[in-house]
Parts: sequence; C-alpha cells; structure tokens
Amino acid sequence: ARTPLIAGNWKMNLDHLQSIAFVQKLAWTLEDKKHDFSDVEVAVFPPFTDLRSVQTLVAGDKLPLKFGGQDLSAHDAGAYTGEISGAFLAALDSAYVIIGHSERRQYHGETDELVAAKVAAAHRHGIVPIICVGETAEDLEQHGPSAVPVAQLRTALEGVVAGKEIVVAYEPVWAIGSGQAATSAQAQQVCEALRALIAEVLGDDAAAATRILYGGSVKANNIAGFLKEPDVDGALVGGASLQLEEFASIVRFKS
Ligand code: 13P
Repeated sequence: ARTPLIAGNWKMNLDHLQSIAFVQKLAWTLEDKKHDFSDVEVAVFPPFTDLRSVQTLVAGDKLPLKFGGQDLSAHDAGAYTGEISGAFLAALDSAYVIIGHSERRQYHGETDELVAAKVAAAHRHGIVPIICVGETAEDLEQHGPSAVPVAQLRTALEGVVAGKEIVVAYEPVWAIGSGQAATSAQAQQVCEALRALIAEVLGDDAAAATRILYGGSVKANNIAGFLKEPDVDGALVGGASLQLEEFASIVRFKS
C-alpha cells in the first residue's frame, strides 16, 4: 500500500526565522496529537533561504518531518546566476523537490522539456521529484479533463531514471488558490489516467508504487474525500499549509 503524503508548499511565504517557529510548532502540534508519521508522511517546502534552518531543526531524525525545495536547476553547477543545484538540496538532506509547479510554468516559462531535465537532475542527486501537472480552465474546456495533464506528464517522464522513485501532483490551475477545489471524483478521474500513463511508460510496478497527490484549494474539510479515492495518495497544499491548525488537521485526515 502507498503511504499517503501530505506536502505543504509554502510558496514565497515565511522567512527563515518564521520557518523555524512554524516547523517547531507544527512538530509539537502533531506530537501532541500522537501523529503516526509512518501512517501519513508529512513534508514542507519552504523558500530556499529557509532550508538550512529547517534542516537544522529536523536533521538526524530530531523531528519526523521531511522537507525539500520548491524548484531546482536542470544543471548541476556553473554559470547559472540565481539557480540552485540539486547537489545543494541533497547536501541539506532534502528528501523531495517540487518540479514544474504551474506558477513556475506560468511566470517563468517552464516547459515540459525543462521539467523533464529537472526531473533527471533530481534523480542524479538522489532527490525524489514531485512532478506537477494540471490544466487551466481553458484547457479543460477545450480538451476535457485528462488530456493536458497526461501530455505534460508523458514528457516529464522522459527525465525519469529507471527504477527511481517519483511523486506526481495533479494540480488543476483553476483550483489553485481559488477556493474552488476539484471534486474528489474529478481528481480521481485524472489521477487514474496519470497512473495508467505511468504503467504504460514505466511499467505496472512503478505505477502501483507511485504516489499521486491532488492539489488545489485543499482544506481540512475536503481532504478526507480526496483520500478516499483509490488513485489519490495525498495532497500538495498551498495556502492551508501556512495555517498551523488547519494544516495539522489536513495531516490528521484519518482522525
Ligand atoms: P492552494 O492550496 O493555495 O490552492 O495551492 C495549491 C498549490 O499550488 C500547491 O502547490
């Protein structure tokens, strides 16, 4: 069985001092509730400038939280001003890295080909990529529910190193930050199509092992519905991941 993953994408929020306070309080809150991290895994994705602080808190299994970057460079080193190497993320013990978030695609022109190159970079450094796909409202109207996310993932999978773990996040752009989450049935339909693609490209074992997350206006009051679906294995949470009690309740969706 796939262990659910609840991932908090902080986006451009919380500086390193705020990140220390937040992660500490999150860990205490979950500890208080006796959260079983082997039952539901929890990861946070702070800005790059926070990662060292978060690592210092979490390192050596001091806290059972995982963490990672919100992006990485397709290159490993060199004259790429402003970019962050997967090697640096790996040196900080990042378990995961988010790749191809729709905000990167929209504001930084990231293409499916670049996403594939970044997936390969994550795998070169032993980091599990969380590959984001999702359609805009216009895509949905023109092409139906699964076509665009499936096409995005097909190209992204070209970067996968055989046998290495990936996580996929289905985030419909129209549901991000809108308060208008997809229905759990809509999420299931696309996540099922994404899993079928993984089976086609990487094989049945990889498809059975890969966690597929839903993201887009996930809240404490809708998380359980998503996780009831057979092909939804967790959530990528934006806004609600910055609210301590709300995020803790999302993590504790089983209780
Ligand atoms: P919201 O949860 O704020 O809709 O954001 C979702 C998201 O983009 C997570 O990566």
